Amino acid sequence: VEDLLAVLAREQRGANELMARCHRVLSHEGLRGDAVKDIARDIGNFLQRIFDLLLSKAVEAILSRAGLYGRPAELGDYARQFQSLVVPDDVADVNQDGAMTDEAFAAMRLAGPNPVMLRRIDAVPANFPVDAARFAAITKQDLAAALAASRVYLADYAALSLQVSGTDPAQKYASAPLALFALDENRSALTPVAIQCGQTPSNACPVFYADEGRSWELAKIHVQSADGNYHELISHLGLTHLLVEPFVVATHRNLAQQHPLFLLLLPHMQGTAFINNAAINSLIAPGGTVDKLLAGTIESDWAVSATALTSLDFNGHMLKNNLKIRGVDDPALLPDYPYRDDALLLWDAIEGWVGDYLDLYYDSDADVVEDEELQAWYRDLISPEGGTLSTLGQADPAGGEGRGLFTVAYLKEVVTMVIFTGSVQHAGVNFPQRTIMSYAPAMPLATYAPPPVRVSGALPADAGLAHLPPLQMGLLQVLVGELLGGVYFTRLGDYDRHQRQSWFTDRRVDEPLAAFHSNLVAAERTIGARNLERAIAYDVMLPSRVPQSINI
Ligand code: FE
Repeated sequence: VEDLLAVLAREQRGANELMARCHRVLSHEGLRGDAVKDIARDIGNFLQRIFDLLLSKAVEAILSRAGLYGRPAELGDYARQFQSLVVPDDVADVNQDGAMTDEAFAAMRLAGPNPVMLRRIDAVPANFPVDAARFAAITKQDLAAALAASRVYLADYAALSLQVSGTDPAQKYASAPLALFALDENRSALTPVAIQCGQTPSNACPVFYADEGRSWELAKIHVQSADGNYHELISHLGLTHLLVEPFVVATHRNLAQQHPLFLLLLPHMQGTAFINNAAINSLIAPGGTVDKLLAGTIESDWAVSATALTSLDFNGHMLKNNLKIRGVDDPALLPDYPYRDDALLLWDAIEGWVGDYLDLYYDSDADVVEDEELQAWYRDLISPEGGTLSTLGQADPAGGEGRGLFTVAYLKEVVTMVIFTGSVQHAGVNFPQRTIMSYAPAMPLATYAPPPVRVSGALPADAGLAHLPPLQMGLLQVLVGELLGGVYFTRLGDYDRHQRQSWFTDRRVDEPLAAFHSNLVAAERTIGARNLERAIAYDVMLPSRVPQSINI
């Protein structure tokens, strides 16, 4: 313990020195590139040392003494890890089997940390042989009729097929499950019906149904774990942090500092290169926290994130197109979808602001085509040696060959997408890390027993515990979630915060910016009112809790 305290005292001094250097750079020396780079490196190293320390033998010994190390004896061991931190409300959503209740499990798909998986289907996929009689027994609906009435939804984690099960700190079990959900005839409640824990059905990978007791509970644990992996690798890292990064680089490389688009985008990119660099050097490095916590080997985890980016249809991923493609855009068919409703409110507010702003500088499509810096920006973004965003672009309205950046309307969509992704979408996936995702049984970042197979006879009451992470991994999940989900730097639309003068010097901007601010205030009220009506409040997209940029 004394050794440990000495190390902590040294790290405390190191942290204070780092903070002092940050303040010096920010207040006196300006943001010189090399000083910032040095600090970014040192912060990355510092975090790495802290995480190493947490996983050291000394800490292991102390945690063991405190009953916080190794396999849990009972579910309550996880909640007892919260001493000074508040236990998330979601403890109540996990039943005695260590799995989410069916109700909470369905709610996660609509307003959870990763609320982007559901797809409305008109046929059950061939690799998911759901039995129509079992479907009818659970839902009191005929499967074919429910499909025809647009009441059946699928969450498919196929993109995780690239994950290879990791072994740090013990054998883990990555899976790429499929989960089927149905709305009741009034469309007021979504219910989970069936789960298959892999992409290829077999005796070793059967379909489990919501009415078959403990095996069903185990299957839900594996889906929640897959959802956590999909969340971190694709929805969070891949499609926010790494999607915005090429825009950061291309904007700095190609646009002059007085270019109107540079001025608009810069506040929405503050800290993004820094946090991505810190992530590469510590969080997602081999042996780093992600390697330890998530289900896959770190190399296969990188492949999942990278493939999500390289296979991304950029235009199809814009919010309204994405909702339409997934068949979840129509409130008449799917009335209760908090993520959709709140995200749309903010997409529209950002789109209005971006539109008004760009209208000040681009009178016609010809202005877009003739803006050489803007065209160089676009070419850099799609270049295989640059941003590699090969699907960014629009068809030539004049009917010419090839795609490009031709119109003011498309430029507005792209800029809205960049700002929305760096602010609202990131907030939506980042901040639940501190709440629900910090409670390992609600969202285990890896499972430690293989997915269930069908057994004769009853499973023991504590069967679920073996699937959940060991206690020290649960504790690491608390600490990482608390860190990553606890930093709110800047606020959407507040361009003048941390500025000596107003950020925009063109006074023609004042009016559209004031309109943006009042739209954000209105959105805050609307979401607040919605939350009073919702079974579970969805507060991650309240504009007051959405930072301008990805900086954590
Ligand atoms: Fe983040």
